Amino acid sequence: MILLQTAGLTRRYAGLVAVDAVDMDIPAGGIHAVIGPNGAGKTTLFNLISGVVPPSAGTIRFAGSAVTSLLPHERARLGIARTFQNIRVFGAMTVLENVLTGLHAHLSATLPEIVARLGRFRREERAAVDRAKDALALVGLSARADARAAALSYGDQRRLEIARAMVAEPRLLLLDEPAAGMNPAETEALAALVRRIRGFGTTVLLVEHDMGFVMDLSDTVTVLNFGRRIFQGTPAEVRREPAVIEAYLGPK
Ligand code: ATP
Repeated sequence: MILLQTAGLTRRYAGLVAVDAVDMDIPAGGIHAVIGPNGAGKTTLFNLISGVVPPSAGTIRFAGSAVTSLLPHERARLGIARTFQNIRVFGAMTVLENVLTGLHAHLSATLPEIVARLGRFRREERAAVDRAKDALALVGLSARADARAAALSYGDQRRLEIARAMVAEPRLLLLDEPAAGMNPAETEALAALVRRIRGFGTTVLLVEHDMGFVMDLSDTVTVLNFGRRIFQGTPAEVRREPAVIEAYLGPK
């Protein structure tokens, strides 16, 4: 089954085409990567899929429904969650509270309302708290639940963002450069976490520059160059594709 399908997906900015008529089929289940040189359009593609920016042309289907004109929180409700390239934790809030904000699209309240009513939220929404605790357990941060998010190490803040995205049990998790800035031990722990998430039944689509990480982890790899999809295949196929080697991987 195809979980996510883009057809002719295009985003133009003045003078340039950031994402250019991209057709992409992401099967349900598994770990899928988008790679490509700086400026190839990877983050813009994620912004289009999550609804952060509207497309100039083309369509996006998710789990059989057209989502092209839905707002980000509507897509979140359908099961699309994401993290961002730059860390976006709420430093002054606790780790657990940060995870709770990941449920805001699934509740009737807005994020500022939830933050304003966190005390009541805690009493009234035990189920939400339990889910947040499960998400923290998933990423290995249970012991830090009551710490301020700002006190966490960089790698732990990245894991917190994944917990916040996972708390709503999304069908699709978009990870934008999850290994960026991580040391080798943190990267290894992240790979184990992404595999755990796959085992949990969530389909993972990630953008990443760390080729060792991508090639070890991914079931399929989509390669972008100048906004165009130039290849999609298994890591082994991508490694021997001349167009990919020329555009991105470099001569061996
Ligand atoms: P990187 O690997 O460096 O993160 P990327 O593949 O994620 O790059 P994007 O960030 O999607 O690439 O950018 C694709 C192109 O679109 C770039 O040329 C970028 O400058 C341009 N671009 C992205 N967002 C905007 C914007 N809001 N306004 C104008 N141009 C933009």
